[in-house]
Amino acid sequence: MLTQSLTSDIHVMDRVLADYHAVDFSSCTDEDVLEALSAQTTSIRDFAALLSPCAGKYLEQMAAKAKALTEQYFGVNKCLYTPLYIANYCVNHCSYCGFNCTNKIHRAKLTMEEIEQEAQAISSTGLREILLLTGESRFHSDVEYIGEAVKIMRRYFNTIGLEVYPMDVSEYEYLHSLGADYVSVYQETYDRDVYDKVHISGPKKVYDYRFNALERAIQGGMRGGGLGALLGLSDFRRDAFGSGLHAYWLQKKYPAAELSFSVPRLRPYVNNDDNQSGVGDRDFLQVILAYRIFMPFMGFSLSSRENAAFRDNCAALAPTKISAGVKTGVGGHSEEEKGDVQFKTSDERSVDEIYNALLKRGLQPVFNDYVYIIDAV
Ligand code: SF4
Repeated sequence: MLTQSLTSDIHVMDRVLADYHAVDFSSCTDEDVLEALSAQTTSIRDFAALLSPCAGKYLEQMAAKAKALTEQYFGVNKCLYTPLYIANYCVNHCSYCGFNCTNKIHRAKLTMEEIEQEAQAISSTGLREILLLTGESRFHSDVEYIGEAVKIMRRYFNTIGLEVYPMDVSEYEYLHSLGADYVSVYQETYDRDVYDKVHISGPKKVYDYRFNALERAIQGGMRGGGLGALLGLSDFRRDAFGSGLHAYWLQKKYPAAELSFSVPRLRPYVNNDDNQSGVGDRDFLQVILAYRIFMPFMGFSLSSRENAAFRDNCAALAPTKISAGVKTGVGGHSEEEKGDVQFKTSDERSVDEIYNALLKRGLQPVFNDYVYIIDAV
């Protein structure tokens, strides 16, 4: 039976997995979906109904509600950002990723001078939010290396996110003290068996340490975190449900944390053109609408894994952040990419092109949605 509690002494992983294992989408009925759509606040039970196959025929109603909630909480603002890969070394063998340590690709790591050049090139487009990525290798990209990169970013950007290997609280504290704002850690799949199977070797095999990383980041002072499941690895409804629960219980325990969903779908990568998600556009849409209705105040990032037309069509419904001018190889903003890409993007538009496309739809692209009154550095 699905449970909800207001206790402040929450063991997030236990709560998530209890509901994750209990859910039965096949038992959800039309009445359940209609009840969820008319509810003032959306319960976990409602969330399950909105993700169920039965809700597939109510996408129009879900879209109308999601759009209204997005406007209620965020207006028509869409914050633009871009990822910057400063390295692509990785010690993990994840079956679905181009950076996996067995894949024969060109590896690289930027020097501090090169990182500064990238920061200058990106900031000249107007962007003020950056997401730094390294692949997951403590050996090649140690915490000090990431910290030096954060210091440079702080001179050019208002908001700095990190998508690196999971760390201990003290390491998050250190990176936050240098100016990092938030951390993204994707669980990829909440199904332990599938998790073990697709993470063939490397430290990422340890499910629990990864699961608890966002909590450690918040305890380390980060003001927010990004999370999501990689749709296509396992049953996408269950994984979307697990990710929603993860956000829900984290938010219950840390009400001030600024959390953000992402909904990546598997994409082809170098030496593997067959890496496809099998999750269709309608299914993807159902997931993002269900997320928005379940947690209307949460951030939502829409990546360039999705194509330009689809991103534009989804922009008003749930996203609050949209990536632009994206490169998924190492560097690539100031000169040619120095290392191979993590995955093939579907939307290669520049910052200007995406900015104008949003304006045409009556949306307001913004470069910064956060102001430090007292600088953290
Ligand atoms: S998903 Fe992350 S940990 Fe896995 S191979 Fe890719 S970069 Fe490395």
